[in-house]
Amino acid sequence: MRTRRTVDESARLPVATPADVRAEATGLFRQHRGPLSVTLALHVLAAAFGLAGPFLLGRMVDGVVEGTSTTRIDVLAATLAGFIIAQAVLTRLAIRRALVLGEEVFAQLRETFIARVLALPLSTVERAGTGDLVARTTGDIDALSRTVRFAVPEILVAFVTTVLTLGAAIIAGPLVAAGAIVGVPLLYLGTRWYLKRARDGYLWERAAYASLDGSVTETVDGLRTVEALNMADVRIRRTEDDVAEAYAAERRTLFLRSVWFPTAEMSYVLPVVGTLAWGAWLVSGGHATVGQVAAVVLYMVQIADPVDRLVSWLDELQVGTSSLARVVGIAKVPEDRAATGATPDGEDIRADSVRYAYVDGQDVLHGISLELRPGERLAMVGPSGAGKSTLGRLLAGIHPTRAGRVEVGDVPLVDLELDRLRREVVLVTQEHHVFVGTMRDNLALAAPDATDDELRRALDAVDALEWAEALPDGLDTVVGSGGHPIGPAQAQQIALARIVLADPHTLVLDEATSLLDPRAARHLERSLSAVLSGRTVVAIAHRLHTAHDADRVAVVEDGRISELGSHHELVEHGEAYAALWESWHGRPARESTHQS
Ligand code: ADP
Repeated sequence: MRTRRTVDESARLPVATPADVRAEATGLFRQHRGPLSVTLALHVLAAAFGLAGPFLLGRMVDGVVEGTSTTRIDVLAATLAGFIIAQAVLTRLAIRRALVLGEEVFAQLRETFIARVLALPLSTVERAGTGDLVARTTGDIDALSRTVRFAVPEILVAFVTTVLTLGAAIIAGPLVAAGAIVGVPLLYLGTRWYLKRARDGYLWERAAYASLDGSVTETVDGLRTVEALNMADVRIRRTEDDVAEAYAAERRTLFLRSVWFPTAEMSYVLPVVGTLAWGAWLVSGGHATVGQVAAVVLYMVQIADPVDRLVSWLDELQVGTSSLARVVGIAKVPEDRAATGATPDGEDIRADSVRYAYVDGQDVLHGISLELRPGERLAMVGPSGAGKSTLGRLLAGIHPTRAGRVEVGDVPLVDLELDRLRREVVLVTQEHHVFVGTMRDNLALAAPDATDDELRRALDAVDALEWAEALPDGLDTVVGSGGHPIGPAQAQQIALARIVLADPHTLVLDEATSLLDPRAARHLERSLSAVLSGRTVVAIAHRLHTAHDADRVAVVEDGRISELGSHHELVEHGEAYAALWESWHGRPARESTHQS
């Protein structure tokens, strides 16, 4: 196949193996065995009624040929009409059942999928990027929905009808029906050829579209960066590459279809011709009746429809299977932690020889040890890219370490149940998402059992009670996208109120207020200090006055802590921190106060 762009494969979200996909599909079928049997039974009945026509016609022809016809044509016609009506009614019932079943199965798949996505380890999502995940949530789920709702029922019905029609042809004229075999080799070989190649083709296609979606989204999301760095050309080239890749993948599967469809088409026209010629020969030798030939040829004409449907939906099934493989693949992501149910003995957090790598083989932290003293303020300073945020996330238990341990009260953070972890330490970032839902829902995320009084107290603690009570429906006001508008400062206050509710003893603060405008920031500073009081705080400091006010300062350089001590000790020490302080403090006093 054509060359594919090389990416860091270890970072990709996994795709399930055919065996896993089969197991998943079998499991689904098994869970819905009852309704599935009813649906199939209805279809079998409907198909059986549809098969009576050629059979009766064959008998009629023979009657006429032999001159022994005893059945009146009008009675025969009435019987036929009765069969057709019965078939129509049964088909309608069967299709209805099949569609309802499809919806149920699809709803279940979607729920399972969401549960799996939410259970994904954050470290994996960060590594793989969100593009692939979003593509699986949208494109693949859509493809899967078509398969489950339409392809699977259609295939089952077409298959049943094909088998029954063949059976009927054999009963009507066993010898004549043998002529139908001419179509089989072509159908078999063509389908085998296709199926062998289709899975890879469609997986490639889906992956190519996922990557295209991802890079376009990224360009749009990072528009300002793209403009600022004059990267438009680079991004356009990247998108063009992605489009070329998707085009190549699309051409590949189109080629597969363009070979397979005509072959299949041929293979169900051949039996009509085959049985007619073969039948004529049999009749001339006295081995079959004209009526038998008529009936079998009619069956062969009739069988073209279900086989045709089978063939075209089988293709859709390939698309669906590829999507299912990508959707089920989500469940194959190994857990990055295993809660042992241990309870920490104490509130002191300690990092011991911690190493971490985003990309295999490239450590960004090189053996960091650090002991937080309960109740202290520790500021982390250092150049950008030194590893401050990474260390912060490890101290908050977001990422597991690659080597070394981060513990609270002698229990590794990653051994804690997630809700337990949240009561020990929480990471506070500038990302403060307001979810679609009521104010109450948004706050209760942190404490599902909190009473309204507790929610109000939390809002009050972060200075947000006033505006929250002034909302049109108070705590019942729907906020989030499409709901009552919430400003960035208010969103940050909601995030802070969640922390008050979760009530962890330690907070890791990553640039908590640096992006807000200064007036909002000063207001938030008050909310924030209310949240910080009485807790151990690790602050990733972007302004040195945070460091000056802290109990201790850790200077992080190149994935290591190069200095650790109080502001005064470090200034005395006369190394990196002293130099930083000097350059910052050396400025005119007025400017430095303004900066802070
Ligand atoms: P700081 O907070 O001190 O600016 P970071 O902890 O953000 O530093 O980054 C430390 C190193 O890890 C940098 O080299 C950065 O490029 C890398 N890094 C950070 N986040 C990721 C990520 N999601 N994937 C890959 N590398 C990352």
